[in-house]
Amino acid sequence: MKTDLKSLMREDGFVCPSCGKRHFGGLTDCLIGSGAMEELPLLLRKYSVQKPFVLCDRHTCEAAGERVARILSSAGIAYALHIVEREKPAPDERIVGEAVMFCPPDADGVIAVGSGVLNDTGKILSRAKGIPDLIVATAPSMDGFASGTSSMERGGLKVSLPSKCPDAVVADPAVLAAAPVHMIRSGVGDMLAKYVSIAEWRIAALLVGDPFCETVAAIVKDALDTCVKAAPLAVQGDPDAAASVMEGLVVSGLAMNYAGISRPASGMEHYISHILDMRALAFGTPADLHGIQCGIATLETIRAYERLASITPEREKALAAVRAFDPDAWNAHLREQLGAGAEAMIAGERREGKYDPQKHAARLEKILAHWDEILAIIGTLPKSAELEAFMRSIGHPTSFAEIGVSDGDAREAFLMAKDIRDKYVLGRLLWDLGLLGEIG
Ligand SMILES: [Zn+2]
Ligand SMILES: [Zn+2]
Repeated sequence: MKTDLKSLMREDGFVCPSCGKRHFGGLTDCLIGSGAMEELPLLLRKYSVQKPFVLCDRHTCEAAGERVARILSSAGIAYALHIVEREKPAPDERIVGEAVMFCPPDADGVIAVGSGVLNDTGKILSRAKGIPDLIVATAPSMDGFASGTSSMERGGLKVSLPSKCPDAVVADPAVLAAAPVHMIRSGVGDMLAKYVSIAEWRIAALLVGDPFCETVAAIVKDALDTCVKAAPLAVQGDPDAAASVMEGLVVSGLAMNYAGISRPASGMEHYISHILDMRALAFGTPADLHGIQCGIATLETIRAYERLASITPEREKALAAVRAFDPDAWNAHLREQLGAGAEAMIAGERREGKYDPQKHAARLEKILAHWDEILAIIGTLPKSAELEAFMRSIGHPTSFAEIGVSDGDAREAFLMAKDIRDKYVLGRLLWDLGLLGEIG
């Protein structure tokens, strides 16, 4: 089955045959194809934008911004263009402030040209001003194009800010294919994460009652298959293949909007990546592109699931591990490893109380009663050896060491990933079984 992107973006959403809910995609227009950028004047008219503010950096300006400017000029559209001059701008107060200060007061729409930071900034600006947001994508590097949140650094901490789902995403395959190959691999890595996130969504539905939707899971799996198939040619610079990867990434973002939660697209692997980002922010340790970190973490997580599947869970061992667990010592460890970023995680635990021995005992009984089903879900994951071979074939790093992260830091990230959000992921399952530390 190939998911038809258009059918997913109906403004009135669709009533789901699996879960009965009405799912909304959020994104209204997505044009991926040669000539897509030439449609910008038409799109602007559709959204009643007469004076767009075009935001790009030096690289994305060269990749697509200059062409956007030409297209707008020849259509007689009075735009304002701002180029962020510094190399690798961080997604923080500075770039948001810069966007606000350079955006003319009468701008009535935002066109963010880029992938990642510029898109996230454009979404914040358009939300603050209450004006439409359009994205001209320059690289298929992550799955946040259709998302209504911005991944930012605020006050020195990583946060996911509610911003605005873009109204339209536009991408020219030739532009996507010309993106640095590391960015294309990053997009594929962000999609590989979906093997784990879908499996963990099923496990969470089974153990802690997270609302699950078979249709949304199937859409994400379909997008993942599309990306995996297209990846080998995409990393060689083939425009059609790069377009397929881009389409998969947009569909994945839409699926998150349908579900109303991030479950379909992120799990343990994303939290490992998140910890690495937090440490990088606090202590300047090495970090790589989001999707690259997620891709490597997916492989690590699947290896850990394979180890778990070879073990028979023991009630007494799990109960003894929880009795021996010292929450205060663990919180001190989080603070030491993550700096100020640990506080939000510690506050999260205070609200949810996952370490409560009675709650743990109840979860443990459920795990033991459903062990066969958990094994069946783990069985849906690709074999780690096959995944590793695939990643190597497209030049995607397969170990944290390759991106400069030490073995110790990678192991710590695995251990701390369970505390990022109130979401049932592998780290929690291992903790519940008294196996965190033995596995991982
Ligand atoms: Zn549904
Ligand atoms: Zn991601």
